Amino acid sequence: MTTLSVAVVGSGPAGLYTAEALVKQAAALDPPCQVAVDVLDRLPTPYGLVRYGVAPDHPSIKSIAEYLRGVLEHPGVAFIGGVRLGGEVTREDLLSCYDAVVYATGAMRDRRMGIDGEDLPGSYAATDFVNWYCGHPDTDAGSFTLDAESVAVIGVGNVAVDVARILVRDPEELRRTDVSQPVLQALAASKVREVHVIGRRGPAQAKFTTKELRELGELAGVDIVVGAGEADPAAFDATGGGAAAADRRVRGNLAVIGDWAARVPAGNPRRLVLRFWLRPVRVEGTGRVSGLTVERTRIDGNGVLTGTGELEHIPAQMVLRSVGYQSVPLPGVPFDQRSCTVPNAEGRVLGDDGAPLPREYVAGWLKRGPTGVIGTNKSDAAQTVRSLLADLCPGGGPAGQGARAGALAALLAGRSVQPVSYADWLKVERAEAELAASLGRGARVKLASRAEIDACCRGGS
Ligand code: NAP
Repeated sequence: MTTLSVAVVGSGPAGLYTAEALVKQAAALDPPCQVAVDVLDRLPTPYGLVRYGVAPDHPSIKSIAEYLRGVLEHPGVAFIGGVRLGGEVTREDLLSCYDAVVYATGAMRDRRMGIDGEDLPGSYAATDFVNWYCGHPDTDAGSFTLDAESVAVIGVGNVAVDVARILVRDPEELRRTDVSQPVLQALAASKVREVHVIGRRGPAQAKFTTKELRELGELAGVDIVVGAGEADPAAFDATGGGAAAADRRVRGNLAVIGDWAARVPAGNPRRLVLRFWLRPVRVEGTGRVSGLTVERTRIDGNGVLTGTGELEHIPAQMVLRSVGYQSVPLPGVPFDQRSCTVPNAEGRVLGDDGAPLPREYVAGWLKRGPTGVIGTNKSDAAQTVRSLLADLCPGGGPAGQGARAGALAALLAGRSVQPVSYADWLKVERAEAELAASLGRGARVKLASRAEIDACCRGGS
């Protein structure tokens, strides 16, 4: 029986849900189609955003990695780490080694605000901060020293909620998580006392989900405050804000924020201040960040967000812009610079002429932009795989050119590239469990650097 060979580029949720859908959907064809899926990742570690994006104090979301482990351990699936498309391999290499290629590299770049002072020392992308506390191998564990007393977080999505929570949460509560030891120490030494989370529109337009939002109000030792008059969804909205409140999530958010606005601060050591209807104008500072100038906004009678000219200065020694992620182009793969996605029709990559490119597919944030929760990628991947199998296994049964088993391995060996195997990754898992035990912490503590991960992968144990 011929085997359909597929390379999936990216081992985050989108890539691994794609691998799972390939195995399951191919087996369900009549007659069944056999598939061999190689999941490539530029990093030596699998799970992408689940490992390096989900906050350490969200263990139930992180436990998705346990589910995805089952995908990697399927006999039809292999992990090939430390291999970057555009580095160790090219698009053409993959197309010559496999029957099909699925791009699922996510969205790893931060969006920019385009305001003065954005690049001052002390002003960071939230993605950098997330990478730091999640122990991303590209980020130095020493890259953040939390000596700011006041931090401004710009944006009111779930990433803003995550970074604000990590900044104000008692670090003792992170001891049982997988956060690396140097990061835990930096959080324990943090001088942060006040975090301002700033939305350019109102509470009804905020992107966060109610469950994530509510958690902010439950943190021990933290007072939560809402800007005066800003909890009222209609206060700065000439349209009355009624349309947005029809949404269940929005109603939930408004109830939570309204409740907080009525709270009397208890004098806790740390404060979280939610602000709305303020758009960033300038990050202030000479040499380093000293504050943020914002302008009061309102929605006019036509529903358009406008500045009122009224300025406010928010003192802050650190600014985190949490204004969304975007994907980066993959060398040789079509890319729409406007939407920062790969043009596609139900996962089929489209060329410049709008026609599908044979044997190339896309899934996840690279396909649809950085929206939805992790589980959204499951149905998204299933759609891409349906397209792939309809093209390459028409009417059921394999129509691949035949698995070129070992083709990529031979190509990499010829370039003296030694990829990281699943067995190598398991050594990292074991080392992280042993580190946790030696520190008297939870089930796992992340290795603190790329060098430690590499040494562990290449080591004998
Ligand atoms: P997001 O949900 O798109 O939120 C981005 C925020 O930035 C919005 O409030 C947006 O305001 C604001 N913004 C954009 N440009 C701005 C500018 N120039 N100035 C000021 N504000 C600006 O993005 P995200 O928070 O990065 O989250 C990405 C995805 O990951 C989302 O789907 C999110 O739900 C998901 N996620 C989920 C979890 C979880 O489930 N626990 C955790 C983290 C992330 P406007 O609306 O006015 O544009």
